[in-house]
Amino acid sequence: MFPIISQKPSDYAVGKIICVGRNYLEHVKELDNDISTSPLLFIKPLSSVVPFAGSLNIPEDFGVVHHELEISILIGEAKAPKSYSIRGVGLALDLTLRDLQNELKKQGHPWERAKAFSGSAVISDFIEIDDYSDLDHLKLILYKNNKLQQRGNSGQMIFKIEDLLYDIDRAFTLQAGDIVLTGTPAGVSSLSGGDQLIAELYVRNRCELKTSASIA
Ligand code: ZN
Repeated sequence: MFPIISQKPSDYAVGKIICVGRNYLEHVKELDNDISTSPLLFIKPLSSVVPFAGSLNIPEDFGVVHHELEISILIGEAKAPKSYSIRGVGLALDLTLRDLQNELKKQGHPWERAKAFSGSAVISDFIEIDDYSDLDHLKLILYKNNKLQQRGNSGQMIFKIEDLLYDIDRAFTLQAGDIVLTGTPAGVSSLSGGDQLIAELYVRNRCELKTSASIA
């Protein structure tokens, strides 16, 4: 799968998907989690990636599936002095088997079974962003069945986007084609067949990206 940047396919393929947990205070509270002192990171495999469009399949046999709407960052080639750059900004759903994740947390096990299944990384197209100062002024909104469900702003992040990328690069090495999911604001909820999702990304209060999908 090739990422689409401003309506054109890019020249590199999607790499790994790196996700950030617990990055908005109100979401940390709604799930009764602790605040991390460093970014909480996990990875989804390439097999988890599906486009944020059309019809989405969710697992039926593992309990509740939650949507987490997140700002996504497409990583580009090295741009000195950094070994990576920001190629585009988009939206993603980090789909999560919440019952299973709670069980795994209790057992002290890794989260992959709840987070890395096929179709769990729902990735939109990307828009180009010229001014890095815009990164702290991105607003994301999710409507579920025409009702406002999630709303947040990158200015509310506990760890800001540029700090996250620096930390992730040190931990895992960022490469062109990698996609970073930067955490979800409050308002996560369960999904079921027939649900309609509309997501919007605003850059400094201008809607620059709108995407929709429905649950099969
Ligand atoms: Zn998430």
